Amino acid sequence: MENCIFCKIVAGEIPSPRLYEDEKMIVINDIEPKAKKHYLCIPKAHFARLNEMDGEKAETLKYCFEKIAELEETLGLSNGYRVMINQGEDGGQTVAHLHIHLLGGEKLQDF
Ligand code: AMP
Ligand code: ZN
Repeated sequence: MENCIFCKIVAGEIPSPRLYEDEKMIVINDIEPKAKKHYLCIPKAHFARLNEMDGEKAETLKYCFEKIAELEETLGLSNGYRVMINQGEDGGQTVAHLHIHLLGGEKLQDF
């Protein structure tokens, strides 16, 4: 997808060190962390929002969540973390390539 910053990161056109990568997803540090640990899990396939969900995209998301669970310890999130997917303008989504925020490394504020 042209002009999508996360597609460019996935393609390596914008450098961003990967904490994890496989054929379906990457995990990177958020450039503006909102917690001591703030990762982004980015599916490699571009889609903007949950309302575009189909069987294949649902499989991709399922895969991402299973992989996140496997990576908890590696990412230093064994004591718990918050999972967020912002959707659209009211949800505060600024990058229109669906991604999963993982926040932790400290006791987070209630919201
Ligand atoms: P959202 O607001 O849910 O769309 O999340 C987008 C996130 O991407 C924000 O938390 C940004 O700080 C983060 N972000 C934007 N550009 C980059 C980048 N080049 N590398 C890592 N994170 C980024
Ligand atoms: Zn994209």
